[in-house]
Amino acid sequence: MSSAPRVLNGLAIASDIKAEVAGEVATARSAGYTPGLAVVLVGDVPASQIYVRSKVKTCAELGIYSEMITPPATISTEELLAIVASLNARNDIDGILIQLPLPAHVDTPLLLDAVAPEKDVDGFHPVNVGRLLSGTGGDDLLAPCTPAGIMQILKRSAIPVAGQNAVVIGRSNIVGKPVAAMLINASATVTVCHSKTHNLAEITRQADIVVAAIGRPGFLTAEMVRPGATLIDVGINRITGEAELAEFFPPTHPEHADRRALWEKRGSTVVGDIHPAAFAVSGAYTPVPGGVGALTIAMLMKNTLTAARTRREKASRERK
Ligand code: NAD
Repeated sequence: MSSAPRVLNGLAIASDIKAEVAGEVATARSAGYTPGLAVVLVGDVPASQIYVRSKVKTCAELGIYSEMITPPATISTEELLAIVASLNARNDIDGILIQLPLPAHVDTPLLLDAVAPEKDVDGFHPVNVGRLLSGTGGDDLLAPCTPAGIMQILKRSAIPVAGQNAVVIGRSNIVGKPVAAMLINASATVTVCHSKTHNLAEITRQADIVVAAIGRPGFLTAEMVRPGATLIDVGINRITGEAELAEFFPPTHPEHADRRALWEKRGSTVVGDIHPAAFAVSGAYTPVPGGVGALTIAMLMKNTLTAARTRREKASRERK
């Protein structure tokens, strides 16, 4: 008889990482500097405002200085480039985060490339992407936050990665590709699947670890999973309809009562890219919410601290 799956608690892991960062920030402050993060939030996209507010709030909790720059949606690429150039030049700013998505008229790749690589706490600059791919970044690497958070969940939960078959579904630059690179660097055998992949279920059934980063509610079903596999769910999908609710959280299953009550209260609930029935046959899984999503901001804080430390170490080496 198989045992109940382990729930990989992202909130607890994120809280441990934030406590470690807070301790190291306190050490940095007593050594005479305060790590600083600048967040550029263009226009008034409600979801972006929520994300940015919680990033700024977490900075305050951990003792990191933060600054919000909020230009209107009409700002030009040139004006944004000037903002980035001034942040690149400031000594009190260690990390620069440009909240995406930007308005359609802004040249997003040009802007992301303009961020100084040593202040690129999102890990999107081609220099940092190259270091990740070549596996030469070491502990100083500024790597994309969500994939880095996934690796922390695996590591801190003692899930074996070396030699394991890992299947990543999704090939975005933000999640799919960087997490595939990190899994290769950690010696997994990695297959990346995407919207053009044939026989996807056959591939996922071979996996010891599945990372689902698709953006489709409940895409990975129980039949697509090898019993006992580790399932990492990156998806964040809001469901509102009663039929969808019944599909994910059937009223006949008493364990879903809390989730159904929440939906009654709010009129919606968040689900991942993995169906709860697949979690039930897994060996371990990250829940949604409370799994991968919890790690993203914690890793941003860690990157800001790393950027602050690395830049000062480099400056002190250059002075010698
Ligand atoms: P994206 O839209 O950029 O990429 C989705 C990927 O899924 C694509 O590579 C595509 O090829 C693949 N895909 C689409 N349909 C498919 C199909 N039928 N079969 C196989 N592959 C298919 O999305 P993203 O930015 O990588 O985000 C993915 C999900 O993760 C979203 O739900 C997003 O909200 C969530 N996300 C969560 C966090 C977090 O902090 N937890 C961070 C980033 C993204």
